[in-house]
Amino acid sequence: CGIVGVLGQHEAAPLLVEALKRLEYRGYDSAGIATVNNGALDRRRAVGKLVNLSDLLVHDPLPGKSGIGHTRWATHGEPNTRNAHPHQSGPVAVVHNGIIENYKDLRAELAEHQITPQTDTDTETVALLTHHYIQQGMTHVDAARACLARLEGAFALAFLFDGEDDLIVAARKGSPLAIGHGDGEMFVGSDAIALAPMTDTITYLEEGDCAVLTRQTVDIFDESGARLMRESRTINTDA
Ligand code: GLU
Repeated sequence: CGIVGVLGQHEAAPLLVEALKRLEYRGYDSAGIATVNNGALDRRRAVGKLVNLSDLLVHDPLPGKSGIGHTRWATHGEPNTRNAHPHQSGPVAVVHNGIIENYKDLRAELAEHQITPQTDTDTETVALLTHHYIQQGMTHVDAARACLARLEGAFALAFLFDGEDDLIVAARKGSPLAIGHGDGEMFVGSDAIALAPMTDTITYLEEGDCAVLTRQTVDIFDESGARLMRESRTINTDA
């Protein structure tokens, strides 16, 4: 299972699929991507090998220069298209590796607001809760951070938002996550190898870090919300 995100100067879908191929070694049962194109969020998902997603994209392309992608190893909900990531609720799309341990409690809380899940996954709860916070008046970034503060478990997450061509929020708690710096481009991935075709300049997130990415900027916060500096380094990905 793996995560990737692109805020690029070129079409994101081919880059996302290439990066997901490089995460194949982790194993997966389904895959999917979401992009923002002229402000509009959309997604494609397919069960089985990545070639199934690639074939789908040939017949039903997903344009846009911003996107997130995922290979899934199902823990909650059988591997089918409905349960495949990215998960979406309203303007929020999310990809996730790991487990949200308290998803049942969060579901119960959302049910009090007549919000019902459409999938069997723990992950969808993240999209639903973030969407709920946006409906209560929070900005997209604040809603994602408020949601992250509520999550228990070990995970890596990346958020993409309808109407936001230049924003990805990424968080690490128990699963590795690397930020890749390009020239007017920004990337995120489960490991640096996934990002090797795009860049060799990498910042590794530490436990509890949340990163707010644009094409030009990376702002990293710890769990208390304090701003952090993390060194970037040039890595050798030839190996
Ligand atoms: N727990 C999530 C699911 O079952 C994510 C699994 C993964 O790490 O791929 O959908």
